[in-house]
Amino acid sequence: MGSEGHVAIWWARRDLRLADNPALRSAIDDGEAVLPIFVLDPQLLVPAGQVRRDWLMAALYALDRDLRSAGGLGLSVMSGNPAVVVPYLAKAYEVQRVHISADFGPYGRSRDHHVAEKLRAQGIELVRTGSPYAVAPGTLKNDSGRAFQVFGAFHRAWRAHGIREPAPEIAAGAVQWLQVDDRVRLDAPNETLDSLAGEGPARAAWRNWLHSDSNGLAEYGRLHDFPGADATSHLSIALRWGHLHPRTVLHDLAGLRSKSAAALARQIAWRDFFADVLFQRPDAVGEPIRPEFSKMPTDDPQRLETAAQRLRAWQDGKTGYPLVDAGMRQLLAEGWMHNRVRMVVASFLIKDLHIGWWHGARWFMEHLRDGDIAQNQLNWQWVAGCGTDAAPYFRIFNPTTQAEKFDPDASYIRLYVPELAEMSIEHVHHPWTAPQGTLNGYPEPIVVHAVERKEALDRYAVVKDL
Ligand SMILES: Cc1cc2nc3c(=O)[nH]c(=O)nc-3n(C[C@H](O)[C@H](O)[C@H](O)COP(=O)(O)OP(=O)(O)OC[C@H]3O[C@@H](n4cnc5c(N)ncnc54)[C@H](O)[C@@H]3O)c2cc1C
Repeated sequence: MGSEGHVAIWWARRDLRLADNPALRSAIDDGEAVLPIFVLDPQLLVPAGQVRRDWLMAALYALDRDLRSAGGLGLSVMSGNPAVVVPYLAKAYEVQRVHISADFGPYGRSRDHHVAEKLRAQGIELVRTGSPYAVAPGTLKNDSGRAFQVFGAFHRAWRAHGIREPAPEIAAGAVQWLQVDDRVRLDAPNETLDSLAGEGPARAAWRNWLHSDSNGLAEYGRLHDFPGADATSHLSIALRWGHLHPRTVLHDLAGLRSKSAAALARQIAWRDFFADVLFQRPDAVGEPIRPEFSKMPTDDPQRLETAAQRLRAWQDGKTGYPLVDAGMRQLLAEGWMHNRVRMVVASFLIKDLHIGWWHGARWFMEHLRDGDIAQNQLNWQWVAGCGTDAAPYFRIFNPTTQAEKFDPDASYIRLYVPELAEMSIEHVHHPWTAPQGTLNGYPEPIVVHAVERKEALDRYAVVKDL
């Protein structure tokens, strides 16, 4: 195998970076030679959707390149069931330990359990060092030793817990790297993905945003809720794939005493909170955390043609409600959507169209580059009112007043709904009031919000009375 002394495997998963990577550091400290691998797992790849598959392949290409730049031979990408591939490689390279960053999602935990069992049978240890979170799920407990149910209390404990120091940098040339001959060959991604995916672009974009005077961190507190300003960090994709670790981000924020820095750190705490909730309640992937919500009547698109048509209109951004349509079209065009708009479109699907949140969550997971089972399912449950510390169900977003409040000049709507680009500000938030003939084919509203709001509250009565 071309190495002197014992080999350690670094099995990369959701930590596709070299900097501040405790699992990689641990492999380097352990082995006299390190074999960096990634396993393309059909169980994850098939349901991921094209958007995330493309991102993954571009990110692997970038990591392969980064490893070569650090004096290595590249990343060995393998394909198959990790419970077969990882023990096979571990045996072939006579490793004593395989190093990973711990996974806390339901599938990842059970996969790692199986891999660890198989390795143990061969006398090899699966070593978990670090996690994709600032504070790993299961760490924080309330005074009764239980997991937190409410974000406010979690956030206080999270802040008191503090953040570890970043892992030491890897000295280029100091590591002996290995490579598997029979690995998957990676194709170069298209130019756009090549310029976005991976640790280098993620770090540059973050640093740029952090120090930018216009719509960067300095303006985050004031503008983060306005999609037209595009003033949020766009960190979610980098955090999802581990191009950046939240600890790196929090360290960069630590010296800044601004309200904006505190507001951003608080959002990162939400990410940790939802990961913690899913760790405690793995059934939340598909079941409402508040069980009474499973009694709520919804319109099933698989059985009702009207519901199927409405779901399609929502997916295509053709509901006739401009902010909803702008958001859904941004999702299809960019694989990303602004948080305020995610809340509005989710509320519209659940409370104006009466379609179960899981249908929307599935569509999001198929189309979001940052699609993450914990963040996605629990944010959907938050909007649906059935999650932990969720928005009360009876608080129903009005898609028109939300647009007037958060996209007052309609710059976001005009960008993603070209039919409305030239419409006057007087009508653009409710184009059905415009004089006939100015809509450029933009649809009439598929439902009347005031009517559906009442319908939603009637359906909610079933839950409330339980
Ligand atoms: C229905 C719905 C589905 C969502 N699905 C996902 C998902 O699959 N993956 C995902 O990463 N986020 C999801 N979010 C949360 C949030 O919308 C995105 O994290 C955010 O829009 C990403 O943009 P940003 O990085 O510019 O955010 P910023 O405002 O700059 O926030 C910085 C970071 O804080 C975290 N954060 C911000 N808001 C939230 C939140 N509400 N919940 C948890 N973490 C948050 C993210 O990691 C984000 O990158 C969802 C929200 C809703 C309402």
